[in-house]
Amino acid sequence: MRRLFAASTLTLLLAAGAAQAQVDGATVDAAVQRVTPQVVEWRRDFHQHPELGFAETRSAAVIADHLRALGLEVRTGVGKTGVVGVLRGARPGRVVALRADMDALPVQEATGLDFASTATGTYMGNTVPVAHACGHDMHMAMLMGAAQVLAGMKDQIAGTVVFVFQPAEEGAPPGEPKGGAALMIAEGALNDPKPEAIFGLHVVPGRPGSVFYRPEGFMAASDRVDIVLKGKQTHGAWPWRGVDVIAVAGQVIETVNTLTARTVDPTTTPTVFTIATLNAGVRYNIIPDSATLSGTLRTFDVAQRDALVAR
Ligand SMILES: [Zn+2]
Repeated sequence: MRRLFAASTLTLLLAAGAAQAQVDGATVDAAVQRVTPQVVEWRRDFHQHPELGFAETRSAAVIADHLRALGLEVRTGVGKTGVVGVLRGARPGRVVALRADMDALPVQEATGLDFASTATGTYMGNTVPVAHACGHDMHMAMLMGAAQVLAGMKDQIAGTVVFVFQPAEEGAPPGEPKGGAALMIAEGALNDPKPEAIFGLHVVPGRPGSVFYRPEGFMAASDRVDIVLKGKQTHGAWPWRGVDVIAVAGQVIETVNTLTARTVDPTTTPTVFTIATLNAGVRYNIIPDSATLSGTLRTFDVAQRDALVAR
């Protein structure tokens, strides 16, 4: 985590253009070292208090208090629970933004950590366990740390840094027309000052201490897919008298899996299409009249995505 965080800070300073070579790497590294224990503490606190998309009120308050204490201009309630902090360097220059996501997921944590989540939230009308299973607790803590490091170098910074804490990254919650990014932008998070570049990062398990980067898109586009099949209910002993949505659902799943496995070149446009839920029927001897499936389509290429959606 520390190196990722250090890298994001360095990237920013290099990207700030006019600010080049004003703060050397060793100075940045030392400042990062100093704030790291606090970043770990913040992360564990967020981890223990996860909140679902657009319900990140506690997280937003912790973040806003911290940014205000650093002397930043702070706007809250941008896109419901989003927070924007603005750090103006001592001299004029360009505007860059650093962004972290804030929301947790409706899943049960089973890590056994002493700072594991026991929180619950409301999802689709149900009370559900909530956990930071995607690492957004780290992202928030790391960006708070970056804000602290950069605020401490304010006098050497030529330009402005905007810190964007974005709610509801996991998509628009049920019943909401927009996710956190779209809503924050619609509500002016990236206006006044308007960043010329924006940097985000995502932690990933597996290779501690490594930073992966590339130009253009890193993560695939994510489309949610909902399929409703309508058939004709009949007794399980008389399938010929109805239209069997269970059998059709099986064919749909096979087709979806074959579409990506047999018609997409995986060496140029990696694509994944997964059906993850299937709900149908209530009784062992009744073929129901409908079935619902949902899944996710992940694509890197816009044309590829459009072609799959069309099909
Ligand atoms: Zn995530």
